[in-house]
Amino acid sequence: MFDVKYIRKDFPILSREINGNPLVYFDNAATSQTPQQVIDVIVDYYSRYNANIHRGVHRLSQEATEAYENARATIQKHFNIAYPYEVIFTSGTTESINLIASGYSPSLKKGDELIISAMEHHSNIVPWQMLCEKTGAVLKVIPMTEQGTLEMNIYEDLLSERTKLVFVNHVSNALGTVNPIQEIIDKAHGFGAKVLLDGAQASPHIKADLQALDVDYYVTSAHKLCGPTGVGMLYGKSVLLNELPPYQGGGEMIASVTFEKTTYADLPHKFEAGTPNIAGGIAFGAALDYMNAIGFEKIAAYEAELLAYATNKLTKIEDLKIYGEAPQKTAVISFNVGRIHPYDIGSILDQMGIAVRTGHHCAQPIMDFYKIPGTIRASFSFYNTFEEIDLFEIGLRKAVKMLQ
Ligand SMILES: *Cc1c(COP(=O)(O)O)cnc(C)c1O
Repeated sequence: MFDVKYIRKDFPILSREINGNPLVYFDNAATSQTPQQVIDVIVDYYSRYNANIHRGVHRLSQEATEAYENARATIQKHFNIAYPYEVIFTSGTTESINLIASGYSPSLKKGDELIISAMEHHSNIVPWQMLCEKTGAVLKVIPMTEQGTLEMNIYEDLLSERTKLVFVNHVSNALGTVNPIQEIIDKAHGFGAKVLLDGAQASPHIKADLQALDVDYYVTSAHKLCGPTGVGMLYGKSVLLNELPPYQGGGEMIASVTFEKTTYADLPHKFEAGTPNIAGGIAFGAALDYMNAIGFEKIAAYEAELLAYATNKLTKIEDLKIYGEAPQKTAVISFNVGRIHPYDIGSILDQMGIAVRTGHHCAQPIMDFYKIPGTIRASFSFYNTFEEIDLFEIGLRKAVKMLQ
């Protein structure tokens, strides 16, 4: 049994009121809310054992190091990663992608090709464009269909011996499309190309088995899955990470330093220069523990019900058009109503305490594809309810009436 009333008690923020209305938080694709269990872990760290890790002989440093490394092990286990040192702590998805992009800069040459998809987040477009400018490599794009799925036949045509890297999001943050990642990985490997999956939008909903996928790199942010902001991870196969140059120089990432020559530390420290977000890393592990205690299968099943319920309600609203109707999608609905500007609807909903996102959702190419300035995006999480969707429908109908 999935007891959402019981689960909601874990999230203090969900009892907030906005303008006298109960908060309805439907912006989970931008960031998720944090349960008390995770907040407690952060408070406990700063209250009891705040210390720098890895270097100290004293008790607090040892406790902090142990908690931080335990969190790494939790992440490793969650994603079925072979070794803990294949988990690199970063500040989030964006930094993880930039780390890899910068790592490939010395080895790419003119005429090499990189493939991305038409439905990427800007953080999985811009670093690769910058890399292409620097190296002379060429960026190719897998186009998308009206339905919001990738044109897999064209992907096959784009692949060749020149392809070095393929970058695709596991789930689109703007449309909710779950991409056929296994097929993407297998086909790329057929040409010796490496694959990076942006898992930021997938990981709150789908527990990915990275060894089974045989993916080369996988990245995500803790704040999308009930953890804090400013911390995330990069998974990379150790054979590949060992070949990449370090990303940043500094403390923690060296084996020895002299003015003549510095040798680098082994994984994962080679990529973890400086004092990390220690409390954040520990809380990332706690967030995964929290979600695993509920169970990802239960979460996915419940969110699918929310999505079906909301989709059914919204499609009954006149002139409402949903963007992204892939057969496999997570609980995200991107839509517009007639010619009303998404921002206007979003503002009125906000007055009623309903939090949705409006705009291009950091995925402008998708909006260009549909020839629209943006959409309203309602994205659901396992702590949302059918009653909240009812409130959303009522609010939306009111807003549309006011604006028409
Ligand atoms: C949120 C998100 C990102 C960016 O994550 P940050 O935490 O801002 O670095 C990248 N890609 C997708 C698909 C996302 O949903």
